[in-house]
Amino acid sequence: MKILVTGGCGYIGSHTIVDLISKGHEVVSADNFLNAGPEVMDHIKACTGQEVKNYKIDLAEKDQVEQIFKDNPDISGIIHFAAMKYVGESCDIPLEYFRNNLNSLINMLECQAKYKVSNFVFSSSCSVYGNPDELPVTEFTPFKEAESPYARTKQMGEDIIRDFAKINPELNFILLRYFNPAGIHASGHLKEKAKKEVETLVPIIHEVYTGKREKLTIFGGDYPTRDGTCIRDYIHVEDVASAHTLSLEFLNKPDTKGKLKVYNVGTGKGITVLEMIHAMEKVSGKKLNYEIGDRRAGDVVQVYADYSKAKEDLGWDPQKNIEDIFSSIL
Ligand code: UDP
Repeated sequence: MKILVTGGCGYIGSHTIVDLISKGHEVVSADNFLNAGPEVMDHIKACTGQEVKNYKIDLAEKDQVEQIFKDNPDISGIIHFAAMKYVGESCDIPLEYFRNNLNSLINMLECQAKYKVSNFVFSSSCSVYGNPDELPVTEFTPFKEAESPYARTKQMGEDIIRDFAKINPELNFILLRYFNPAGIHASGHLKEKAKKEVETLVPIIHEVYTGKREKLTIFGGDYPTRDGTCIRDYIHVEDVASAHTLSLEFLNKPDTKGKLKVYNVGTGKGITVLEMIHAMEKVSGKKLNYEIGDRRAGDVVQVYADYSKAKEDLGWDPQKNIEDIFSSIL
């Protein structure tokens, strides 16, 4: 298959490109280098031995998006990663999140229909569940109020795709709800080099480990969880990447016309922030400096996945655990 990956220089995008190529697929990337540099394409080449063409375009500009499909009429699948992704930042600049995340999605869908690209995989998020009433969450767990503008863009993105799918019965869609991707590719080549300051937990723990950051501030120690800190389901990024390849291979089967499927991409294990810190201390043999601070706006208290649907339909089964995540970043 020839697959268009938007956000191909990003963290999950670059890992997914490596997975797709390793399974024999061809890739075209579209990335404007907003949050990652062009050197990521060199790192992908170091991992795979293959050069991937990247279109440095703004996906909110439809003419630019169309050019990719005109140049590559044989694209049969789209994986749409490109989006702004920070919960905390989204509370500060909500309109940027809505403009960027929704406009680019709408342009991709319009091009999918116009250029008759059968299969579309969307990067959704466990944040669509809000603070869920039941745990672990299944794909049928009802959405609660979004806790951040970022989460709302993902809820709205899913709704946009559902409405669009109704009038395009010849097209197929998979919505992947990621839990908390972490770690890096075993080769070490795809280390996330975000241009912005990192905001997610595992890279911050790494910065404390290396001394780049003096200490980690835990956002809230008085939540109703086993140690007072928030619970998430941290999943190795290589496992997240393979879910995309399996999704496209599933949609590419001859009997899958007009499908819209949703899958949780998590390990099923809920881990607190304090447990994450202690896991890194164990793997690295080094004590980490941390303090309990205020709660962060937009945080869900606890969420972890039931991933049995992805296992049954896609044959996806995560292979790595928290220790593997921390070993991979050392
Ligand atoms: N977190 C924290 N301190 C930090 C960064 C994150 O305590 O400096 C916590 C955050 O409150 C959440 C968990 O770590 O409970 C995961 O946050 P992250 O931003 O990595 O992912 P999110 O689930 O918010 O998308």
